[in-house]
Amino acid sequence: MPRDHKMKCPECGSTLKKVEVNVAGAENKVLSYQCDKCDYFEFEQISSQRVISELRETPLKIKQKIVKLSQDRLGIYLNNNLVRSLNLKKGEEIYVSVPDKKHIILELED
Ligand SMILES: [Zn+2]
Repeated sequence: MPRDHKMKCPECGSTLKKVEVNVAGAENKVLSYQCDKCDYFEFEQISSQRVISELRETPLKIKQKIVKLSQDRLGIYLNNNLVRSLNLKKGEEIYVSVPDKKHIILELED
């Protein structure tokens, strides 16, 4: 299908709307085609491949348990790989931010 022409919805024949979709953790956006009439939705191949390979290059994603420290305080252990690759030291200060209900961002001081 020629990419610059308006795409028709395969379900109902309406013109599909091009919408850029944000993917958490990726800088590239995925292009999608959406139909207003019938909720048909498809991802554009090239841009979704780009985002998938970008996410694959994310250096580290590890699962950690939340542990009880004392009283009502909870914490997570930072595993060795993380400590070594970021050169973390005891006593160092980091900033914690919570952009939404599913993410905690830890930011090191410069
Ligand atoms: Zn449609």
